[in-house]
Amino acid sequence: MTSDNVTLAIEKPPAVLLPVLGSDASFPVRRVYCVGRNYAEHAKEMGQDPTKSKPIFFMKPTDSVVAAVEGNGCEIAYPPQTTNLHHEIELVIAIGKGGENITIADVDKHIFGYGVGVDLTRRDLQAEAKKKGQPWELAKGFDNSAPMSALCEKHEAISDGRIWLSVDGVVRQEGDIKDMIWGVGEVVSILSSYYHLMPGDIIFTGTPEGVGAINAGQVVSGGVDGIGELSFTITN
Ligand code: MN
Repeated sequence: MTSDNVTLAIEKPPAVLLPVLGSDASFPVRRVYCVGRNYAEHAKEMGQDPTKSKPIFFMKPTDSVVAAVEGNGCEIAYPPQTTNLHHEIELVIAIGKGGENITIADVDKHIFGYGVGVDLTRRDLQAEAKKKGQPWELAKGFDNSAPMSALCEKHEAISDGRIWLSVDGVVRQEGDIKDMIWGVGEVVSILSSYYHLMPGDIIFTGTPEGVGAINAGQVVSGGVDGIGELSFTITN
């Protein structure tokens, strides 16, 4: 039986869609995976040892994704229960073809394209969770915590490109994708050893150094050269 034949007890939740550059088609988001501490200098600024071991993965809810496409006037309300909201600019991988135990050599067959996202973080709640050994959902997985650019269709595993974020026009984060501890191929390959990745899954790949606080009234912009840009305003 298809869902068209099912009577729903409540209203169907809306699909979470991202525009695709140069196309009328939209990309439906399924799951949102994130990699923590994937740039050595950011790991150090968070007081962590960047020695390469295993990547840290966490997730955000699908509907935390908000299209913050350049020029669409995206506004994100300052979230509750924090006084230290931080920006983390990240390259985001979009999966077009599912699979598990994907080898690095095969990653290109599974990538639909890339976008740019900000992993908004309630840093005060994250610090508290780390101290108590508690999970990160309250710090990372809140409403509208994943503003995203449009997606750029590109199937190969990219290995370099400037990544940057500015607040009110002042550059706060600037790095290069080539400095990721785990590159695109490794991230997809390792994640697919834990999950059967499916079309629509997206993966935030971690942030370079320079994370910091943002407040209501500020405009956040960011991008990855050759991939795209995003922009949004924090409101009260
Ligand atoms: Mn992050």
